[in-house]
Amino acid sequence: MTDLILVGKQGSGKGTQAKILAKKFGYQIFETGAALRKIANATSELGQKVKEITTRGDLVPNEIVMEIVREFLKNADTEKSVIFDGIPRSEEQRQTLEKLLGEMGREFLALEIKLSNGEAMERLMMRAHCNECGSDFGSAEDECPRCGSFDISRRADDNPESISTRLENFEKYTAPLLDKWKTADKLISVNGEQPVNAVTTEMLAKLNLT
Ligand SMILES: [Zn+2]
Repeated sequence: MTDLILVGKQGSGKGTQAKILAKKFGYQIFETGAALRKIANATSELGQKVKEITTRGDLVPNEIVMEIVREFLKNADTEKSVIFDGIPRSEEQRQTLEKLLGEMGREFLALEIKLSNGEAMERLMMRAHCNECGSDFGSAEDECPRCGSFDISRRADDNPESISTRLENFEKYTAPLLDKWKTADKLISVNGEQPVNAVTTEMLAKLNLT
């Protein structure tokens, strides 16, 4: 049983691959944003604290994120792997997460779904949502490929400036973590520029899950 730290630029399809692993093998997904939103709705002392911080628009401090991870792991099935999505986001967080996993007797690998900046930009610019049937798709056309509706919306932050900033942040904060895992021989990389099922096939082969 090996946990996975999932890493990839926006548009790499890492959320999709996490769901495939969860469905196929019962992997448990820890998605940081969702976990924080969930806890902010709780009446506990920690929940109220998180709510206060996120309402202010501030970043939740590392020690609180780690407390939430610890709670999640305490309640997690010890026989099933956990996928971490959206964590760690900094060198400090990498160190504390790895320490926590070690304390709980859990092994991990980092799994990178690789995408060039050009491909990430293209995919995010194409990202569209159909308000009629609810499907998400990638297209430059404003017509839903599923139901033919023209009632299409795109995310306001999917513009070249905002996407560039997010890609720069990936280079600045996440790329250094990949170097650390590579040096520690804990990094697996798959080519994210293939169709979804080919990414899955490469990923399963490299994780020896086939
Ligand atoms: Zn549609």
